[in-house]
Amino acid sequence: MAITLFSHPSCYLHLAGDEHPEQPARLSAVNDQLIRSGLEFVVQQRDAGAAAATDLYAVHSKLYVDEIYAKAPKDGHIWLDPDTQMMPHSLNAALHAAGAAINAVDLVMSDINQQAFCNIRPPGHHATRDQAMGFCIFNNIAVAAGHALKQYGLERIAIVDFDVHHGNGTEDIFAGDERVLFCSSFQYPLYPNTGDVPSGDNIENLPLPALCKPAVWREQITQHWLPHINAFKPQLILVSAGFDGHREDDMAQFLLTENDYHWIAQQLKQLADTHCQGRIVAVLEGGYALSALGRSVVAFLKGLM
Ligand SMILES: [Zn+2]
Repeated sequence: MAITLFSHPSCYLHLAGDEHPEQPARLSAVNDQLIRSGLEFVVQQRDAGAAAATDLYAVHSKLYVDEIYAKAPKDGHIWLDPDTQMMPHSLNAALHAAGAAINAVDLVMSDINQQAFCNIRPPGHHATRDQAMGFCIFNNIAVAAGHALKQYGLERIAIVDFDVHHGNGTEDIFAGDERVLFCSSFQYPLYPNTGDVPSGDNIENLPLPALCKPAVWREQITQHWLPHINAFKPQLILVSAGFDGHREDDMAQFLLTENDYHWIAQQLKQLADTHCQGRIVAVLEGGYALSALGRSVVAFLKGLM
């Protein structure tokens, strides 16, 4: 058991807007629950470095990345899309969020049986190759995968996204790339209203209706994802860990609880133990009901142990 938690102070400074659900208190809620649960004694905490523009070019267009650097405001704020704001701390936060994902990959590739969780924001999975979307500026999990492919020459990476929203950005970036198997479960229809028809043979989407019960969610994953990932034999498992499918989270209408996040962590750990010496990197995506988010992350981390 060796779980490392990457974060950075800048991730607390990005403000997404007044009354915005994607708030710094989300990261504190995770930390508070880690302390309350006693897990802080077994989880190593590390400060993340910043991603370089070249790391971002691996999965985003150069035009888009350069435009984000150029647009980053010195004061005030700008809107990249109706949900996604940049203020003076946002670029630094986004670079450290992506940097955390890179550091986490380097860590788990450095030794066997290493797992890492990135407690970071802004989240990433809606950011497409060319576009900021849905609170996301850079696609952190895609940057992690891009780094693992390039730096370590991996040939098979599984990305599992259990956020209640479709990981449209990650699908956009990796559709048709046979080195990546992308599995996304999400409420459908719901923002961003994509994913019902997968855009490549390497995409395993599970669109599920509102009020989806834990038993149905687990059964779908057991039937569709676990055998597929097992047959794929991943050399690394990456997780877009969004906890907004929790029944207390009003961002959507799934009925999951922290027990379900514990369960999926156990399933992924088993697959990682079988195929890739336990190597798992998880990156925080959604999760807006603060207490449920903290409890869910702790349950997920316990499932990895
Ligand atoms: Zn979400």
